[in-house]
Amino acid sequence: MPKAARSICVFCGARPGSDAVFMSEARAVGTMLAQKGLRLVYGAGDVGIMGETARAAIAAGGDTMGVIPTHLMQAEQGRRDLGTFVITETMHERKKVMFANSDAILVLPGGAGSLDEFFEVLTWRQLGLHAKPIYILNSGGYWGPLVALVDYVIAQGFAEPSLREFFTLLPDLAALETRLAEFAG
Ligand code: AMP
Repeated sequence: MPKAARSICVFCGARPGSDAVFMSEARAVGTMLAQKGLRLVYGAGDVGIMGETARAAIAAGGDTMGVIPTHLMQAEQGRRDLGTFVITETMHERKKVMFANSDAILVLPGGAGSLDEFFEVLTWRQLGLHAKPIYILNSGGYWGPLVALVDYVIAQGFAEPSLREFFTLLPDLAALETRLAEFAG
């Protein structure tokens, strides 16, 4: 039986952000996933960084899975024309379905939603509930303050130093490409 394609769950903003690098790198990520034969699992919205990543993946012939709660279909312009499309009742279910159908997590620039998603998978990892790699793409240095916050939390005695080992900060697209190539096998 052929090996099933591996899936990468992308957590990212429903807005484009203010620096053009966020959207351009999102586009590059979508293309890269498709070229490596990796399926994009995402929030199914056609807006912001999320929409841009998926449009690029689809344009490059990649497979996609989108998961969106009913109440966001309009606000986030949910796309049904995906390889797999799932509508959930709640935000919690959305995160659960996205996570369950992915082999690794990639965080691109985003807001409170992306932070919520990142910290959830990070805390699950801390508790030993999974061993999926968590990557953060530091587009335009956007996530520097997040890493500084995690370091500060550790320095203040609220987490073990191992917390910092549960995710990998990727400085640029080249670093991401190397990781994805290893991952695609
Ligand atoms: P943001 O980073 O705030 O632009 O949000 C990114 C995505 O995360 C959007 O699709 C939001 O709808 C989604 N989101 C925000 N909060 C949650 C949550 N608690 N659970 C699941 N998805 C969320």
